[in-house]
Amino acid sequence: PVRVRFAPSPTGPLHIGGVRTALFNYLFAKKHGGVFYLRIEDTDQNRFVPGAEAYIMEALQWLGISPEETVGKNEKFGPYRQSERKAIYKQYADQLIASGHAYYAFDSAENLDAMRKDKEALGQTFIYNHSVREQLDNSLTNSAEDVAKRLAAGEDYVIRFKTPVGETLQLHDIIRGDIKFDTNLLDDKVLFKSDGMPTYHLANIVDDHLMQTSHVIRGEEWLPSMPLHVLLYRAFGWDAPEFAHLPLILKPIGNGKLSKRDGDKMGFPVFPLEWKTDEGVSSGYREKGFFPEAVINFLALLGWNDGTDKELFSLEELCNSFDLGRVHKAGAKFDPEKNKWFNHQYLIGKDDAELAQAFAPVVASKNLPRTYSPTKLTRIVGLIKERAHFVSEFWELSDYFFVAPTSYDEKAAKNWKEDTPVLMNQLVEVLANIEDFRSANIETIVKDWMTQNEIGMGKVMQPFRLSLVGALKGPHLFDIAEIIGKEETISRIQKAIA
Ligand code: GLU
Repeated sequence: PVRVRFAPSPTGPLHIGGVRTALFNYLFAKKHGGVFYLRIEDTDQNRFVPGAEAYIMEALQWLGISPEETVGKNEKFGPYRQSERKAIYKQYADQLIASGHAYYAFDSAENLDAMRKDKEALGQTFIYNHSVREQLDNSLTNSAEDVAKRLAAGEDYVIRFKTPVGETLQLHDIIRGDIKFDTNLLDDKVLFKSDGMPTYHLANIVDDHLMQTSHVIRGEEWLPSMPLHVLLYRAFGWDAPEFAHLPLILKPIGNGKLSKRDGDKMGFPVFPLEWKTDEGVSSGYREKGFFPEAVINFLALLGWNDGTDKELFSLEELCNSFDLGRVHKAGAKFDPEKNKWFNHQYLIGKDDAELAQAFAPVVASKNLPRTYSPTKLTRIVGLIKERAHFVSEFWELSDYFFVAPTSYDEKAAKNWKEDTPVLMNQLVEVLANIEDFRSANIETIVKDWMTQNEIGMGKVMQPFRLSLVGALKGPHLFDIAEIIGKEETISRIQKAIA
């Protein structure tokens, strides 16, 4: 059965790359009727950031891709927080020592540092690996009694993986295909420290095994760890899960990897939710007015498509169409304009009444002399939403429905001719006599009047629009007239010609 996980380290807010990893795991699980679970990888206490775990949970919930199992929820293989699984890892580290796949190392930080410097002086890099481990201070070079004594005395140690020498590993990645890897290029990674904490590598493998993970789907930055991980599974005698390393997300311009700082630098969010620290605020999709469905849709297409030109997918459609085999190898460029385009698509697809509800508090905050019914707001929203990416743009796009223009677009005002005031006065008379002040009826009557008197369209319509809106923009003019009402329509024309 398919069981996949998202395994973030709570070192800060989840950025867009992490969210995409979570999403692809979620989609893969749903597609195969499997389970998507969330594990918190918090063994590195130096990098722990308070609030980050809650942030991750809240972000996934906002996006509608919450895990089925996690901290505090269906803890079938719990605990789901690695810091609470501390007791579990030691026995597995011991097991590797006993089977000869790992060893104790006592080298002090100063010694390792000195060796690093010596090597650097020769223009080389120091790597703790098969070529030097036989000369360093560890259980391979000390007698068993000495090692036992030093451990008993409470000396600081680490447990390192004993990488096999001279082997070519044949690895398989669902996205990248077959990859060969020479074990001589690997260093003997630290698996466990004497403070009782495992490192990422050990905890990750042990937990993926114990939690019965079938597929590891994660970012490309973890590809270099794959050989070690496969070797660890083998050392334990466990079947390894399948691996899929997702392509990088690249900056909008240039080829670099999109960084957490890029968003605020370039004026778009790269975090699902806002994140506040003493150093400042990083903006979030939610607070910027993005719809979670739009963010999901956008992210799904960062490195994947269904093989057609189709771009708009609901979460349900994604769950049905998603295919790991169709994920690209090449990095995916992050395009903030496309991101906004998706939001626009979801915005125009929404019910006008629902959008009006979101807009109502904005209108209320303007302290206008009168209130507006939901019906009226719904009408207004329906007329302007085509031009908006966000609800937050509604006011700017519709303010003339609520307040008379206080100035007129200068360029457009040039169209005021000598005879304009006379025509506008006649128009006022025509309008004043209309009983049924609904858009279609106003239009018929005004147009009849123009035809009968052989008045050119532009001569009336442009100054009419300018009077109501203050510029030559906005939706159908007679719709505007109906919504603001007869009295207001007339008063705005009179004000414009005064
Ligand atoms: N804790 C790792 C991270 O922060 C997990 C990597 C993996 O999925 O194996 O991304």
